[in-house]
Amino acid sequence: MEKIQNAGDVNVVSNINANPTNKNVKGRIDRISHCITNDNNTLPACAEFTQPGDFSERSCTFHGSKIIINSHIKNVIHLIHSPASCAYYSWDYRPNTYSYCFTTDLKEEDVVFGGEKKLYNAILKICEEFNPDAIFVYETCQSALIGDDISAVVKSVKKKLNKDNNANKNIPILAFECAGFKGKTQNKGHMIANKKLFELIATKELETITTTTPTPYDINIIGDFSTGSSRSIEEIFNKMGIRVLCSFTGDATIDKIRIMDNAKLNIVHCMKSSIQFANMMEKVYEVPYIVSNFFGIKNCCDALEVVGKILNIDKKLVDDTIDYYLKKNKNELEYYKKELKGKKVFICHGAQRALNYMGPIMEELEMEVVGVATYFANKENYEKIVKQLPKGAIIIDNPNTYELESALMDCKPDIFISDSKTKELVHKLGIPYINGRAPSTVYIGFDGFINFAKDVHGAINSKIWKLVK
Ligand code: SF4
Repeated sequence: MEKIQNAGDVNVVSNINANPTNKNVKGRIDRISHCITNDNNTLPACAEFTQPGDFSERSCTFHGSKIIINSHIKNVIHLIHSPASCAYYSWDYRPNTYSYCFTTDLKEEDVVFGGEKKLYNAILKICEEFNPDAIFVYETCQSALIGDDISAVVKSVKKKLNKDNNANKNIPILAFECAGFKGKTQNKGHMIANKKLFELIATKELETITTTTPTPYDINIIGDFSTGSSRSIEEIFNKMGIRVLCSFTGDATIDKIRIMDNAKLNIVHCMKSSIQFANMMEKVYEVPYIVSNFFGIKNCCDALEVVGKILNIDKKLVDDTIDYYLKKNKNELEYYKKELKGKKVFICHGAQRALNYMGPIMEELEMEVVGVATYFANKENYEKIVKQLPKGAIIIDNPNTYELESALMDCKPDIFISDSKTKELVHKLGIPYINGRAPSTVYIGFDGFINFAKDVHGAINSKIWKLVK
């Protein structure tokens, strides 16, 4: 570790060779080492806490648990022990279409006298009014700071339900101790949620859920957090005779999580925290895992071949499945490649999504990636990003609005790929944008890659840009 700057009273520490001569991105002096121009050798400073006052695009630990990991699990009631604002934030960003979300709506009085009683009553009320598969209770900054112990409250609710022989006494009530300040980024929240959900595995027999016995072709997909994407990967595997027991958590139910231990293979699609989950499954339930990327045609082909080999699937069936999708998408792929070749792209996402997207965008669509910004990435992620990116491209670690704006003005991309948080900024700058998370479509899988190319093409060629520029 090397101290490289002293900006006023903020000491900035970098663990890599920062590039203080970078001219492309304007910003605070203590952020210089986080914004670099790629020379295929230098890495940006990373894995640090966001400085107060820095309008970073990162999310909090609670968001990582509730929104990213848990929001797609079906028929669960989420109870957020917080003022209404945390619940609103978590609802607005990724609307919860599969379950209800409640908050204890902590007020000043609760902050002074404690909110445990309120939480206790709220859980009992949910048990009385609804019949969910599970109740997920979340700690937030406020409830953690006043010392409310959500795990202890959950324990006493369970005791009461058992004592009363309540009809809901056996439903899982899980306490997620994920106060927003607990980690540097939302990634800590992913880990907290994964660890808690892991407790559900092996709590039911497969036969009680599927009415069939385990097969040698049962797998889980880990780390795809979108129902559409999960179903599209599942559809491809079904063509090869493979059954997906659980897509964790993009298309998960409580019951599907319970039987994950029956899989013969786990396929990790994305995220550092998913590898941690896969490692836990390997250690405890002896389910091996591989890491795959289903973004891009070539990556899909590679993934099917590898999985086919591991599960000993007839090679002809694997080849036929691949051929089917290649033929189906050939013409459209060629069209979009011709249209998009040479267009400039700026990607702003979590590290794994940025990495997954970069290769196929550059190799299969022959577009030029002129910049990558990531909300949370570590040294290993940046080593890969730096190697793949062309020289002169901009890299920003944990970007704030000012830095993004200055980078975009400098490199003027034809398309900006990010999530919904940065949409307004790029629209104001008159730059075409698509949401790389694909909230209303699918970018994963063979057909998904064509959807992606089509959306990028549509955004770039929208007539609106002629009016706003
Ligand atoms: S948990 Fe904390 S950081 Fe997260 S939304 Fe609530 S107050 Fe904000």
